[in-house]
Amino acid sequence: MNNATLTNLATELATGAIRVVDLTVPLNENTPIIGLPEEFKQSPGFKMEKISYFDADGPAWYWNSFSCGEHTGTHFDAPGHWISGRDYTDGCTDTIPPEKFIAPANVIDVSKEAAADPDYLLTSDKLKEWESENGKIEPGTWVLMRTDWSKRTPEDFLNYAEDGPHTPGPSVDCMEFLTKERDILGFGVETVGTDAGQAFAFDPAFPAHQLMHGSNKFGLASLTNLDQLPPKGAIIVTPPLKIEHGSGSPLRVIALTTKKPLPMNKNHG
Ligand code: MN
Repeated sequence: MNNATLTNLATELATGAIRVVDLTVPLNENTPIIGLPEEFKQSPGFKMEKISYFDADGPAWYWNSFSCGEHTGTHFDAPGHWISGRDYTDGCTDTIPPEKFIAPANVIDVSKEAAADPDYLLTSDKLKEWESENGKIEPGTWVLMRTDWSKRTPEDFLNYAEDGPHTPGPSVDCMEFLTKERDILGFGVETVGTDAGQAFAFDPAFPAHQLMHGSNKFGLASLTNLDQLPPKGAIIVTPPLKIEHGSGSPLRVIALTTKKPLPMNKNHG
C-alpha cells in the first residue's frame, strides 16, 4: 500500500519543509495550576518521585513515578469535564474518537489587546474581523487564542487579585458563535484555563466550559509558542492520555506547520 499524501508528509517532515512546533509547557513542581475558591476541593500540582537512578534500587535503569490532577500544565479538557457535557457517551478521554486528535488550527492573535487589558475578552466581532483577513473558520477546526500569556512569570500568569484572577478569555457571544455558527472542534488558550479569570461572573458562568463542552467540544489550556504559528494552515496533534472515564489529561501538543518563524521571534535582541 502506498499513499502519496503520507509519502509526501514523511518526506517533508524529514527534509524540514514541514516544521514541528512544540506547544507544550514543561511539567514540574512549579507548573502553575488553577486555584478554586476555598469551599471547593483543590487540584494537586505535579509531583515526581524517583524509583531508581542507576543505584541499589535499579543499578542499570532510571525511572520515576508522578502524580497530578488531570488538568495540570498543558492539558486537554474533555466534554465530560463539565456538567453540560457529562452525558456524552464519547465525551471522556478514552471514548473520544481518535481521529478528532488531529485537526487544523486557526490562531487568533490578540496579544496586544491582552497586554493592554488582562481582562480582555475575545468577541464574535473580533473573530469576524479575523475571518475577513484570513478566511472562514471551518467546522471541525481548533480556534487558538494567542495572548502571549505563556511568556509571563508564574505569578503574573495566574494574576490573582482580591476579586479573583484577571486573565483574558472568550466572551459568552464568542462561545455561542463558535459552537453554533462555526461548529469548531475546540478552543485553546495560553492561560491556565479556557475561560477568562472573571468568567465566574458571566451569564452563563464559564462559557468556554458551559457552551463548548455542552456542545461535545474540547478545550486546551496552558499552550505556549502560539507566536510560532501562522493564522491559518497549521495542523495540531492533541491526543490526551487514555484514562478510563478521564475528564482530561496533561498532553504533549505538537503543531505541524510550514511557515518559518519571524526573525523578531528569535530573541536576538
Ligand atoms: Mn482544564
